[in-house]
Parts: sequence; C-alpha cells; structure tokens
Amino acid sequence: MDYPFEGTPEPGKKFTVCEGIDWIRMPLPFALDHVNCWLLGDPGSQVLIDTGVNDKNTRDNWQGLFHDIGQWPEHLLVTHFHPDHMGLAGWIGEKIAGELLGSDIEINTAITLYGIESEDYESIYAKWYSCNGLPQSTCDAVRSNGNTYKGKVFSLPEKARWRLLSDGQSVKLAGRDYRVIVGRGHAPDMTLLYREDDHVLIAADQVLPRITPNVSVMPQLADNNPLQSFLHTLTTLEALPDDTLVLPSHGKPFKGLKQRLAYLKRHHELRLDEIWQACKQPCSAYDLFVVLFSRELDAQQTSFALGETLAHLHYLEQQGRVQRVMEGAIARFVSTNV
Ligand SMILES: [Zn+2]
Repeated sequence: MDYPFEGTPEPGKKFTVCEGIDWIRMPLPFALDHVNCWLLGDPGSQVLIDTGVNDKNTRDNWQGLFHDIGQWPEHLLVTHFHPDHMGLAGWIGEKIAGELLGSDIEINTAITLYGIESEDYESIYAKWYSCNGLPQSTCDAVRSNGNTYKGKVFSLPEKARWRLLSDGQSVKLAGRDYRVIVGRGHAPDMTLLYREDDHVLIAADQVLPRITPNVSVMPQLADNNPLQSFLHTLTTLEALPDDTLVLPSHGKPFKGLKQRLAYLKRHHELRLDEIWQACKQPCSAYDLFVVLFSRELDAQQTSFALGETLAHLHYLEQQGRVQRVMEGAIARFVSTNV
C-alpha cells in the first residue's frame, strides 16, 4: 500500500489531498485518538464531511479553522451516526444556512439512540452483557453510564432539515459529481462517496489502512448479521480501480484498495476459523474474549469486543457452522461438524 502524504495535519488545520478536497484531523478522547473530516470546494460553496465528537476541544478547533477561512461551510454531510462523525451535526447545523445531507437510516438511527432514556439505555446494555456471559460486575457497572451515545452528541437537527442520500445516487458537492456507495456492516447504511472523474473514494469507516473497522452486532440495531453485510460491501468496492485514492476516516490517505480489501476479507476468515475451533466446547461470547483479545479491555472496548465477537458468531450460525444452545438466559455457541 502506498501513502502519498508523509505527515498529518495539525488539529484544526487543513491540508489539501487532491483537487477540491482538504483533510482535517480532529482529536478524539478515546483509544482511537483522531477522526478525519473532509472539506470540499472553495469558501462560499464548501461542503464539510463529518464533524468529530461533541467536546470543547473539537468545537474550538472548528471555530479556529473557519475563522481562518473567513466563513463557515455552506453544507454539511455526515457519513454515519457514530458520535465521532455526527457528534457536532446539530452545532454546525445551527451555524450554516445550507443543506444537511446523510442517509435516512443513519439519521433515524442517531435520532432513535439520542432519544433513549438513560435508564433504558443502561438496561439494554446490562441485559445484553448478562445474556452473553459477562461477569455480574461488568453488567452492574453499566447501570451508572447513562446514555453513552447522547453523552458524545450535540442536540441533533430535526429530521425535516436533512436531504437524504441513497445508494447509487449521483450528487453534486462543491461543483463536482460524486456517486453515493452505501457501506454496511460497520454502520447500517453508511455513505461513501466516489469521484469517478479522478478516482477518489471518501471511504468513511468501511476501509481503514491500519486497523480493521469495527463490525458489531449492537443491541439497539436491527442488522443481525453485520459481518455478512460488511463482507458484501467489500466485494462491491472491489469493482473500483486500484489507483483509487482512498480517504479513510482514521489513519492516512492511501492507494492500494484491492490489497486492503483482500486483507480485510482474509482477516475475518481467520477470525471465523479461530472462533469455530474454540467453540468445540460450548462458549458464550464472553468465553471467547480470551481467544480473541489479548489485552485488558476498557468499558468502550468491552462493548466493541462483545459486538464484534457476536458478529462472527452470528455469521457462523447462519452458515450452519455453529449452533446456539441456551443455558438458562445465557447464549452459548457450539461448532457443528460441517
Ligand atoms: Zn464509525
């Protein structure tokens, strides 16, 4: 894989990566310490893609950047509902007069999650942890977390404000044509943008250069087999030319899309085999953590780890390679001999 740019932009500063696209890197208060946002076009007709989380640091960085530019962007597009992409949609939405763009499903997901009462949000997680075998202390600990989605997201713009995007649609942004490619598995209906003219892909979290995108079953989301959805999208992306400049939401812009897609597919195949092997004895998702994760997990990583383990188990289950057995309220999975 080829990384055309040596450094990374300072927080709140922009760096041009190709004609009409600037790269902005916003800090994140998580183990994953940054998110990339993209600014399309020239002042007066600019489109900002993604926002970072709702914290003072990120808001200050945007204030500084758009002060330097001399004005706020015209329009905002969000790729998916996660707080590091959509956390400031409401705050930026208040400052701009133009359109807010995003997928119907992603916007609805954000609005639904944002509206869940803290107590209900905690219960959803406590129950999910408990029926997947997590220790009682971990289940109890979520009881004081509140609505962790809302905690990172500024009050959302109302639904009527959004212009909705869908798969295959052609959309003009800052005077250039982009094709919407929907990415599934990491988020339910993530917007990727492909610029046919010069082979540029704004890839959101579907293809990242150094880390594998989180693919999780989540207790509040409908997709019961997100790994299948994710692998299906990777196959769709194989049709793009290999000289495509990929602009990922985390890490550096790169070329070598086909190689990265092949790696990601292989990674999940190996994980699936590992889990299938480990399930010779019936295992809860939690029992598999020791097989899959070598490090201590913090609260956010625990929920990602469970979601990711379940994504592989559900995939295997639907292939007939594992079977679910209930032991009281706890789900365990055991491999079959196929
Ligand atoms: Zn994401």
